[in-house]
Amino acid sequence: MISGSTENSSISFRISFGLWINENRFHELMGVFEKYRGVTDEVTFFTSETHSCLSLDLIQERAKILKSRMVQVRKFGYRAGINHLTTIGFFKENADQSLKENYGERTYLDGYTDVGGRCSNDPAMQEYIQGLYRSLVAAEPDYIWMDDDIHSGNCFCNHCLDKFAKIVGRRYSREELQKAFNEGSIESKLAFRKYWLEHSRQTFMDLIKLVEKTIHTVSPKMPIGLMTGDRFPEGYDFDLWAKILSGSAGADVMWRPGEGFWSDERPIELAEKVQSVGRQVAFLPDNVMRIQSEVESFVYQPLKKSKKMTALEPAVYIAAGAMGAAFNILTSHDQPLDEYDPMVAEIRKTRPFYDLLVKTFSRSKPQGIYTGWNKDTFVATNLSQGNWFNNDPKKIAGSQACEIFEIGLPAAYRYEDSQATILAGESARSFSPEALEKILSGGVYLDAAALTTLNQMGYGELTGFVVEKYYEKDSLEQWTDHPFNGSFAGQRRDCRQAFRGCGESWGVPAAALIPQSQKSQILSRLINYAHAEIAPCTSGIFENKLGGRIYVAGYCPWSFMQYLSKSTQMKSIFRWLSKESLPDYIGSYHKINLWSRKTLEGKQTMALLNSSLDADEHVELMIKTNGKEIIVYDMNCQSTSLKAAGNSGGYQRFILPEIPSWQMRLVCEK
Ligand SMILES: [Zn+2]
Repeated sequence: MISGSTENSSISFRISFGLWINENRFHELMGVFEKYRGVTDEVTFFTSETHSCLSLDLIQERAKILKSRMVQVRKFGYRAGINHLTTIGFFKENADQSLKENYGERTYLDGYTDVGGRCSNDPAMQEYIQGLYRSLVAAEPDYIWMDDDIHSGNCFCNHCLDKFAKIVGRRYSREELQKAFNEGSIESKLAFRKYWLEHSRQTFMDLIKLVEKTIHTVSPKMPIGLMTGDRFPEGYDFDLWAKILSGSAGADVMWRPGEGFWSDERPIELAEKVQSVGRQVAFLPDNVMRIQSEVESFVYQPLKKSKKMTALEPAVYIAAGAMGAAFNILTSHDQPLDEYDPMVAEIRKTRPFYDLLVKTFSRSKPQGIYTGWNKDTFVATNLSQGNWFNNDPKKIAGSQACEIFEIGLPAAYRYEDSQATILAGESARSFSPEALEKILSGGVYLDAAALTTLNQMGYGELTGFVVEKYYEKDSLEQWTDHPFNGSFAGQRRDCRQAFRGCGESWGVPAAALIPQSQKSQILSRLINYAHAEIAPCTSGIFENKLGGRIYVAGYCPWSFMQYLSKSTQMKSIFRWLSKESLPDYIGSYHKINLWSRKTLEGKQTMALLNSSLDADEHVELMIKTNGKEIIVYDMNCQSTSLKAAGNSGGYQRFILPEIPSWQMRLVCEK
């Protein structure tokens, strides 16, 4: 079996230019891998450590040295390949060694040009790119990676404007485009943005086709890897891109889901990154097995990200769908590796757990709550107001919902794997009417903007509420006497609106809702600091004529979730929204991320991450099953069998052994 099959996780280390150019240093590096034999399957060489396009001469010179380094790596029994860092480039750095020619300048909508990043629609750049990859194939690597500088970049150079003209029917100036994207009716903005997204898809596809053809003309079965991030501006066509990179000979394709999590100073960033990794895996064809999630500690100061967090990361990304990891954690300079030794040791110690996770999950899809993103999400950002390109699509695609997943509800990354959907802001505008109708026939969690968007789109009959007005200051939420609130009726939640400016979760406007039907039920009202009612309804539930179940969260819909009252209510709400079909969730009051998967035999299996600095005791795991026994594995792969301690509805209740802080547990139905 090749590495990355369901036998084992697929692990690679990415090696900087500084570590391989000096032969003595290169041998020191191989010594570290030998000391911790088994820590990696692959040694992958960066072509540079700087993010501007290097001159072709320099790349050719380096490729010749890499050829001999890779021969030596194979003698140790590892696969060896090349990671090309800058195909079109990111930033202006290392100008002396980079392309001097004045072509392919990436141009912004305001006309500003940036030679740090180049444009692949320039024919001269296309020639350069072919020269690059021909040089790399000549080094006879086992595989070639394109790094994440590959993107369409929303360039507005003359070549891009010409290309766009072919899609839209006439040539637009940058000034005209600026207006068409951001002014006029929602419908006209949407239509125009969709044209541009189509152009970006075409640009990206043409670029990777060019690289694929260049490599496969020489070596038809050479595996090509693509590192991505959340590729919303490029149209997220991961399934199509994987097919293209496979070429006509059906070469293996490798994938590296990425996004920044370079230090563990803010652990919440791991929760955001894993959402992104889940999305990046979601559309990949099932035959893409070598999915090495990026683990990066740029700029490689070992004290900036702990050994514990670095070794944990692959497990978390595997839980969300990856099949291994590519570590980019070693120095980028020709310097001793002593300070990295303990990090490599920790990864080696954890490697069997990555293998166990991959063997258990394989490419089964995480089941649970879908965050309402799709390939067109980009068009719906800053739609009714604001500038299209000053946005972060992740904020309506799932990263806004991190707290929902931190309280023990399972995350899904595709509609077809979900039991309930979250819609935020204007994301509904990116769906087709058919897709929306399907979503609204199931369980849906809406914030107030999503409610208004749906009502404006003509789905008012299906949502059960309208927004009457927003309160910008001094409003609190108080729980009504509703079964979902249980003994918490009368409790308050205060998102401290006056603290606007302290971060995104602060100062959120509160929506007063008006129920539209006898069947609309109120879960909370708005009060002020004198405890007088401001509005009788700020959140509620409604079951529509399609059988869809709606919850509208008018008060602080994405944060302040971590009270006992709110956390408990959220679990009641999602059980109801999903009509009791959520595969599992954490029944107790703990900060745990949960991913629900299936084994190859179809049994339920879960990964639980204690995302708190406290040890979790008496964790109550609720599993929708008739089975009454589970096996729990710790990160040393030690197992414990457990019997159910009771049940609730269709859910069996299991009380787990203590989970230490920032540790994962794998749970399998017996
Ligand atoms: Zn361009």
